[in-house]
Amino acid sequence: MKILVINCGSSSLKYQLMDMDNERVLAKGLAERIGIEGSVLTHKSEEMESVVIKRDMKNHKVALEILMNALTDEKHGVIKTMDEISAVGHRVVHAGEKFASSVLITEDVMNALKECIDIAPLHNPPNIMGIEACKEILPDVPMVGVFDTAFHQTMPKEAYIYPIPYEYYEKYKIRKYGFHGTSHKYVGLRAASILNKPINDLKIITCHLGNGASITAIKEGISIDTSMGFTPLEGLAMGTRCGSIDPAILTFLMEKEELNSQEINNILNKKSGVLGVSGVSNDFRDIEEAAQKGNKRAQLALDIFNYRVRTTIGSYVAAMNGVDAIVFTAGLGENSATNRKDICDKLQFLGLSIDDDKNNIRGKETIISTEDSKVKVLVIPTDEELMIAKDTEEIVANII
Ligand code: AMP
Repeated sequence: MKILVINCGSSSLKYQLMDMDNERVLAKGLAERIGIEGSVLTHKSEEMESVVIKRDMKNHKVALEILMNALTDEKHGVIKTMDEISAVGHRVVHAGEKFASSVLITEDVMNALKECIDIAPLHNPPNIMGIEACKEILPDVPMVGVFDTAFHQTMPKEAYIYPIPYEYYEKYKIRKYGFHGTSHKYVGLRAASILNKPINDLKIITCHLGNGASITAIKEGISIDTSMGFTPLEGLAMGTRCGSIDPAILTFLMEKEELNSQEINNILNKKSGVLGVSGVSNDFRDIEEAAQKGNKRAQLALDIFNYRVRTTIGSYVAAMNGVDAIVFTAGLGENSATNRKDICDKLQFLGLSIDDDKNNIRGKETIISTEDSKVKVLVIPTDEELMIAKDTEEIVANII
């Protein structure tokens, strides 16, 4: 079965065509600057060099038409006709409280996603646009929605209700939702499989450390707490996001700097995190390099980042009353041996120890803890596209 995975941003569209019979990626690519001058699609198929297609893409539908042509092209295509696509899996950021798992997209599902625009104004509109465009081009192909928030719908109330007047939860659905769910679910399942234990017997802490970063406590296969909240701004310090700070800072800064809500939002989302502290970059590679050259603020940014990762892990050990495995994933988690070592070296009270040689890897599934470490530590590259394709396959298998 061939499944197309689509991930739409406001001006971008990422795609991957997968053959689920062997979980091979047949082709993948990225359309950028949709609706902006200079739009371009970079398409890479198996065993072929990337092709760059520069063409006006006034909207997501045009981008999809161009990518369908690329997939079926005589030279760099991988399928003969679009009929070979059995289903499409769409990444959708926010499903609110409506869905606790992936679902077949119907009219009712579309309406539910539209209702969530209020709480995900940046993410859901492009996701919805992508689904609608795809339905126009492939009207008879089943589509599945895979939601970033769904995996965390199992959190207990004490983890997701904020201690503010309860009426705001009832009125506006203000609560912790959590994000990166597809990634946490994927690496959690992989960890159980690598450790050769049923996930139902494990307490796992998954650390998705990239430009956006979050940590999840997975107990017996379900998410019981996660560090991102009502929006992806809560929790760890991130590339440009502040993570959790005293909420009183907002009103203090708004008054002192005469900022409106949009301006303060921009500072907390785009100018904070390790960029804001270091003043160097939001890219951890640049910050690590600057710190090595003696830049103290760059070192401070790394220290803050690692401290928050460590203390969040500590709090999730408390939430689960123990931990069997800790997983590192995403850009930084998969690649930075120094970060992993710094975080883990100060978790020795858990009976955890890292093997420095094993830790010296990048982007490869590896158990990096020592043989006698009580807590296993793993590096697992995330694969959200594969998880989306697997969920899609499972759902459409029941209807075709
Ligand atoms: P992501 O959001 O998962 O794509 O992760 C992006 C982040 O991963 C960027 O901030 C990069 O700095 C970081 N990253 C990628 N490769 C490395 C590396 N080799 N060492 C340190 N950080 C890295």
